[in-house]
Amino acid sequence: MSENNLLSSIFRKEVLAMSAYKVADATGLIKLDAMENPYGWPEDIKANWLETLKDCPLNRYPDPEARHLTATIKRLNQIPEQFDVLLGNGSDEIIQLLLMALPSNACVLAPDPGFVMYKQLSLCLGLTYHGIPLLAGSFDLDLPAMLEAIEQHQPSVIFLAYPNNPTGNLFSEASIREIIKAAKGLVIIDEAYAPFADASFIDSLGQYDNLLVMRTVSKLGLAGLRLGYIAGKPDIIEQLHKIRLPYNINSLTQISADFALSNKALFDQQTQNICAERSIVFNRLNALNGITAYPSAANFILFKTPENRANEIFASIKQQGVLIKNLSAQGGLLADCLRVTVGKPEENTAFLTALTRSLVTP
Ligand code: PMP
Repeated sequence: MSENNLLSSIFRKEVLAMSAYKVADATGLIKLDAMENPYGWPEDIKANWLETLKDCPLNRYPDPEARHLTATIKRLNQIPEQFDVLLGNGSDEIIQLLLMALPSNACVLAPDPGFVMYKQLSLCLGLTYHGIPLLAGSFDLDLPAMLEAIEQHQPSVIFLAYPNNPTGNLFSEASIREIIKAAKGLVIIDEAYAPFADASFIDSLGQYDNLLVMRTVSKLGLAGLRLGYIAGKPDIIEQLHKIRLPYNINSLTQISADFALSNKALFDQQTQNICAERSIVFNRLNALNGITAYPSAANFILFKTPENRANEIFASIKQQGVLIKNLSAQGGLLADCLRVTVGKPEENTAFLTALTRSLVTP
């Protein structure tokens, strides 16, 4: 049997047709591509953290329910008692779990452009995926188009990232509420960038039976821990617990996240710094000839470069030592677009200097 026949006799066609999610190598570069918090921890906090890990019994499995951490997350996010929370190995895992629970003929809907994993995981699991274009210019939801798609496709799950990745904006709250009301399936408000936005649907959980709110500690400053969570009605969360792997949150993550999240003041300070830098970078981007930066409520900024120059500008910035994200190949509303994560002041300056140079050297 030839190698191709072997693969096609074993793997689903959707898997064979996919490409793996690729993460660019950032060795030696200023890393502004992945919406990470650029700041580390002061030495005293680091020492206290290591102290908490000292007695972690690695010979034993972790607490399968991560009870202590779950309680901490519920408390810190002010998730009302009557809702349950499921933890995942990043919110990526939660998206996968949700989709794995759907019937094989189910359909998933999200605005486009949106977070790539909604589509990638839907297609990989053989589900139907519909991306509904956002409005050009504002990147807000096209409410009539969304409502029509809901009516036509009856999606089992709708993902709405709030703020949205990669556009950075918060969708209109009124449109989101219309969508939740119109949907017969679940609506997941993905609040990955909540630390940088003054908006949330957690307080609305009690108003709708089909609403779930998902968050992550990644953007806050704990991307290495791999921890996401989703809150919703207990009967819905219970279904996800059935399919998650028993020990999906490892012992080191359980202890470290519990410790780190108790240092709220540190993350609040870092978040404030990032938001202040976001305004500076946004203004400096928009002052550059040929660049249009889009307003962001997240820790990154999407910007448009002069027509057909995105690849060359991206490569030039990289060559000057700064890695950002090139989204231009996705076309549509992202044609000519690059995305930069807000870093430390000196990193942002290095990025802006590199971008300025790249614009003048065609
Ligand atoms: N949702 C959105 C909107 C994101 O942008 C990301 C990461 N880029 C995630 C979820 C996944 O986050 P994580 O798996 O790190 O929790």
